[in-house]
Amino acid sequence: MRKFLVARENIENVNVVQSEVELEPPSNVVNEFNPNEIVRDPAHKKQINEYAPDIQDQVRRAYILKGPMQPDLPSFPRTTFGSVKRSFSKSWYKNYTWLEYSEIKDAAYCFYCFLFKKPGRAEHFGFEVFTKSGYRDWKHASQGLKGHVGSHNSLHNSCVKHYDDYNNQRQSVTSKFAKATKESEELYKIHLTCSLDCSRYLIAQGMAFRGHDESSTSLNKGNFREMVDWVKSQNE
Ligand SMILES: [Zn+2]
Repeated sequence: MRKFLVARENIENVNVVQSEVELEPPSNVVNEFNPNEIVRDPAHKKQINEYAPDIQDQVRRAYILKGPMQPDLPSFPRTTFGSVKRSFSKSWYKNYTWLEYSEIKDAAYCFYCFLFKKPGRAEHFGFEVFTKSGYRDWKHASQGLKGHVGSHNSLHNSCVKHYDDYNNQRQSVTSKFAKATKESEELYKIHLTCSLDCSRYLIAQGMAFRGHDESSTSLNKGNFREMVDWVKSQNE
């Protein structure tokens, strides 16, 4: 059985010391993903490492396009804590943009940790809870949500950084592509305008377009090609 070796990484402020861990790949890896059949409820989503490595990025992209699952329900189920009934509150979405709510499980999850957590990493408070089992301790939610975020170099914040880097990288590629497309469009327009101007002139003068030999080595490639080449040479 193939085994993966996870390299030691330097993580500060994590309670559990990270050691090299041998991990078994998930037994039922999914090899296909259809973005149109995306599962939104966080309790029913497959973990990213349950997809084959070559499609994991496609899965992340599809989820990022959808954004975190934050249903705006008129009310949320109430659970008794001691003598008081408490529930999830949609007002938490405002302060915690990563927060997802599962209607199926009445539980909270973290969108960024779902997307970028590294399997087999040391667990700390709230990391697995917010990605797999779901957080339901509404009584202590204010500490629980803050605790999941943790310090600036917590596992959660390292996932946030991955998310930002991923988005910046994609935006940079998209803008470069858009710029290249615009430049090639402009070049195409120049070539087209030049060809049309030459054609109009030849038609107006009743002159022949073609030459006897239009190959690249020909000394006279005919009126049209010679004229286009001449205009191009004037504009270079
Ligand atoms: Zn998180």
